Amino acid sequence: MNADNERRLREAFPALYRKELPFGFECGDGWFGILWELSESLDAESKATGNPPDSDRYPYAVQVKSKFCMLRWYGENLNEAMDALIEAASARASTSCETCGAPGRLWVRRRWYRVCCDTHVPPGSQLVEDGKSG
Ligand SMILES: [Zn+2]
Repeated sequence: MNADNERRLREAFPALYRKELPFGFECGDGWFGILWELSESLDAESKATGNPPDSDRYPYAVQVKSKFCMLRWYGENLNEAMDALIEAASARASTSCETCGAPGRLWVRRRWYRVCCDTHVPPGSQLVEDGKSG
């Protein structure tokens, strides 16, 4: 994700992103909107638990990445409701182009999987059929 988008997330959600992510936000800019909404939901849910944002018990991200073309948001101090929010965001990302955020499908090229809209499919990619497990 580009530095500008990373900075916007950090500034808007300083408690969630108070720890340095080892490699930054490791996904495409197309998922920025999903990450933004996920962060808003996590922040709201976190505040509802009663832990103030400056508390050690307030949730925070440890790693945010695209892993095997899935959005992963690893954190600490998460409860079940927060896990469900993360899962929903990941499901949304699985049909959103990682480059631009438009509706996308899963493509593979040389074992490299990526969710792409029709515009951003790398040449030589093959569509991964629906119903494939994993
Ligand atoms: Zn796209």
